[in-house]
Amino acid sequence: MKQKWLFFNAATFLVLTLGSAGLAYAQNGQVLGKAQSITGDRFRYSVKTPRGANIYAVNRPSAGMLAAIDRGLTDLFAVARKNRYSRRLSFGDYSIFIARADRQKDSRGTYSPDIAVGAAQYAGSEYDQGGYVYAAGMVVAFNPGAFVIAEHTQNFQRVSDVVRFEGEHLVLYHNDRGRYSQTADHSQGGGHPILQ
Ligand SMILES: [Zn+2]
Repeated sequence: MKQKWLFFNAATFLVLTLGSAGLAYAQNGQVLGKAQSITGDRFRYSVKTPRGANIYAVNRPSAGMLAAIDRGLTDLFAVARKNRYSRRLSFGDYSIFIARADRQKDSRGTYSPDIAVGAAQYAGSEYDQGGYVYAAGMVVAFNPGAFVIAEHTQNFQRVSDVVRFEGEHLVLYHNDRGRYSQTADHSQGGGHPILQ
């Protein structure tokens, strides 16, 4: 995903990564800065899901959100193993940013919390809203694997689906780079699920 990198905020960087060390320390700060630049949000809460995925959120995440994220990752790991992929199949390998939704409903009025992101390669496509597109989720970084989704208060099955779908890009990146390249850009056609 083509996103410009911004300077990360030093204060938030320290709060969220205090206690970790070395390389991971710097990488997490860069990933946080990138998530902030994509969403314009402040991720003030740092928690882990019951299964151990790393969560950064604008509001204190509900138990429903955390359980849905774990279910999505569980489904992702199962279908990845079916495809004989073995790398990055631990909950702790994933950092998920829960952003403020930029819309609550889609154009048909269906509950669909999404984030607005720069149109980039989708400019001029049917998705283009005038320089931005609404996305259910977006990959933020590959090391550590990170993506952003919107906060939900209902329909948590959608959260599980989005987690599984964004996670597909990360699993493919680390296990099958050719297939990753073929499926990363949805403006070229194709969507999720990629892995069957
Ligand atoms: Zn995708």
